[in-house]
Amino acid sequence: MRSAARVVVVGGGVVGASVLYHLTQAGWSDVMLIERDELTCGSTWHAAGGMHTVNGDPNVARLQQYTINLYREIERISGQSCGVHLTGGLMLAGTRERFDWLRMAQARGRYLGMELEMLTVEEAAQRFPLLDKRHFVGAMFDPVEGHVDPYGVTHAYAKSAQIAGAEVVRHTRVVDLKSRADGTWDVITDHGNVHAEHVVNAGGLWAREVGRMVGVELPILAMEHQYLITEEVPQIAGLPEQLHCIDFEGELYLREERGGMLLGTYERAGVPWSPVATPWDFAQSLLPNDLDRIAPSLELAFQHFPALGEVGVRKVVNGPFTFAPDGNPLIGPVKGLRNFWVACGVMAGFSQGGGVGLALSQWMVNGDPGSDIWAMDVARYGGWATLAYTHAKVRENYSRRFRIRFPNEELPAGRPLRTTPIYDRLHEAHAVFGEYCGLEHPLWFAPSEAQAREEVTFHRSNAHAHVAAECRAVQERVGLLETSNYGKIEISGPEAAAWLSRIMANRVPAVGRIALTPMLNDRGKLIGDFTMCRLAEDRVLLIGTLAAETYYLRWFERHLPPAGVHVRACAMEHVGLSVAGPASRALLQSLVRDDLSNSTFPFLTFRRVDIGMVPALLGRISFTGELGYEIWVSPDYQRALYELLVTAGAERGLAPFGARALNAMRIEKGFGTWAREFRPIYGPHEAGLGRFVALEKGEFIGRAAAVSERARGGELRLIGFAVDAAEAGGGADAIGDEPIWHDGQVVGWVTSGAYGHRVGRSLALGYVPAALASASAGFEIEIIGERRPAERLEACAYDASGLRMRS
Ligand SMILES: Cc1cc2nc3c(=O)[nH]c(=O)nc-3n(C[C@H](O)[C@H](O)[C@H](O)COP(=O)(O)OP(=O)(O)OC[C@H]3O[C@@H](n4cnc5c(N)ncnc54)[C@H](O)[C@@H]3O)c2cc1C
Repeated sequence: MRSAARVVVVGGGVVGASVLYHLTQAGWSDVMLIERDELTCGSTWHAAGGMHTVNGDPNVARLQQYTINLYREIERISGQSCGVHLTGGLMLAGTRERFDWLRMAQARGRYLGMELEMLTVEEAAQRFPLLDKRHFVGAMFDPVEGHVDPYGVTHAYAKSAQIAGAEVVRHTRVVDLKSRADGTWDVITDHGNVHAEHVVNAGGLWAREVGRMVGVELPILAMEHQYLITEEVPQIAGLPEQLHCIDFEGELYLREERGGMLLGTYERAGVPWSPVATPWDFAQSLLPNDLDRIAPSLELAFQHFPALGEVGVRKVVNGPFTFAPDGNPLIGPVKGLRNFWVACGVMAGFSQGGGVGLALSQWMVNGDPGSDIWAMDVARYGGWATLAYTHAKVRENYSRRFRIRFPNEELPAGRPLRTTPIYDRLHEAHAVFGEYCGLEHPLWFAPSEAQAREEVTFHRSNAHAHVAAECRAVQERVGLLETSNYGKIEISGPEAAAWLSRIMANRVPAVGRIALTPMLNDRGKLIGDFTMCRLAEDRVLLIGTLAAETYYLRWFERHLPPAGVHVRACAMEHVGLSVAGPASRALLQSLVRDDLSNSTFPFLTFRRVDIGMVPALLGRISFTGELGYEIWVSPDYQRALYELLVTAGAERGLAPFGARALNAMRIEKGFGTWAREFRPIYGPHEAGLGRFVALEKGEFIGRAAAVSERARGGELRLIGFAVDAAEAGGGADAIGDEPIWHDGQVVGWVTSGAYGHRVGRSLALGYVPAALASASAGFEIEIIGERRPAERLEACAYDASGLRMRS
């Protein structure tokens, strides 16, 4: 074993082996993998090896495509077979909603280059003769699906890496990790130590334990998972290999295995395994079978695929594997630690392992993952994702693995966790709440408690009319919105402003002013959008996305000077209420001494004021497009502030509004938001944020790339559409990720969509190639399998002059 290496990868499952291989491909050959037992001995060896390209997140789907296409390459390099069976796959729909869901997945696949095909039940039965047609309404066929041999894949990665100079050490356990002052690591093993520049935690079932060695509690939990393999099934004897098959309503997956069928299920009553600590003596082990637990699923399987009930069971496998609360991997550098990386929580190692290895290796070698991996970034979780929260969410996620998550569906596990002081008051006002980073926030308000329930649907829901009323109140009178769910970070110190000017693309505002700014990475891509509020010469409050707080902090940490700047996350120290609408100024003016007239408190002013008896920070800013103010107070004052505004607002027709109305109004204004319009695959010019990039202010991160983007015009352009949405079935608007067609070709994708109540039109925002951005006609947006005519909007749909919010 070497005593020093550039990288030590801890863990030789499919993920660690993939990371090792990809590091060598990215040009780092002085790398080693340390495995405490044999390669694959954790969750990898007993996996069913199924692989597929379809994923709810298009960026994850891209990495899944990459993974599957990689197998031939690592076979070629290593000479080790991956046992690839590219059978193609069927996704079976048992209900109309599921069929719609599949049609939406097919549509998303169009701009990912996937050739997904919708089938009738008859067509599905021809391709998969085991199914009983009575239980299904249709299916989707994906030619790029099948299964691999877990042992073969892992060894093919490892051998390919070894050929390129990597070392693989077996039967050696990493027992501790100690950081040195220069950011390097001493990797302490039971067979000696290694000095490493970087450490990757690919510990799979033990990733939590490896995290604890460096004081990090990763939000992952292992669940028991069972599949069985039947005796030979006579009905398929002599036929070509059966397709990989997912039966969503049965919550089952199937594939052929040596003449029989492998049948797995994500049962509703899933059971966590080793919820607190994973035993170190578990290697190449299985758990006792518990067929009773999956009996309801098996009953369905025998109804849906009757031939399976007629044959015996050859083998049952019960093994554990890990999940993050949302089921996506956790990858990337860990905030607060230097040169410490994770690649864990990978629940679909044979679909995602390659993409995870690629992204992580690019990140380590080039400083950037090279693609949009926000959905997998370990930084999407913060301190709120405790062990118990993780347990609640993972169990929920496991039990719903094959169930539809409707776009307006809020899931109940682990709630309520974080609430603000006015939670019960909002409840009394019949708020329907959503959860975001564990925090409850109102989505919309119902007229009565009995009506405060939302039907889940792909169409407009029962909330539609109530959201319309909220938008009308904001447009005509004044609305009150809780804004506590924004992220807040305070930057202070003598160098704060100079440093921020290097980090942010826009100028730091003067004291008492607000500036909107993108944050760019070195490639000039968007990695954040903020409202910078200048409190004092040496203090700026950044307001951004709560879910990205750890992501921002990690970036700031990387760029902090040794002294002179202090960064502090303070989201919940400033809880918020916002008033918006033409009467909002008069309402506030009745409660404050300061002059709020447009000349003394113009748009983008930010000041400390007293509202009644409540000390507050008041910013004049608007995400609704109406005259509006954001008010920030410490939590102990929020209730008093709420009561004050509600009481004083009564005579002005004040009405509460929620996130749904806000979303509809910001889309009417063409305002983008993080993780939708703003992601690290877009440049500021492409995203319509060019006016917030102050190229002339001097050097800042991403400036050179922004200059070149502006000169070239960028490849894409964010534009707005008015969609001729279908009115049938209550109407269906775009929600995001739908393909945009132009003259019969798929040319782009929708990032957000909603019904614009103030303009009375269905709206969408989305990216198209820059060359098409001024095309006057020929656009369509595919909504639930129907191509709907879409008109490109020259300007935002509502108050394009901006007069309403500025005067
Ligand atoms: C029954 C079952 C069926 C499955 N079916 C599929 C499927 O069809 N398709 C699919 O894509 N996925 C499937 N999976 C999931 C798949 O197994 C996982 O996605 C994959 O194994 C994750 O690999 P990993 O490398 O992250 O973790 P692991 O395989 O657990 O690897 C981690 C490795 O790290 C080593 N290690 C940990 N700590 C240390 C330490 N301190 N020192 C040294 N070594 C250490 C361990 O010994 C282990 O070998 C299935 C899982 C189960 C249980």
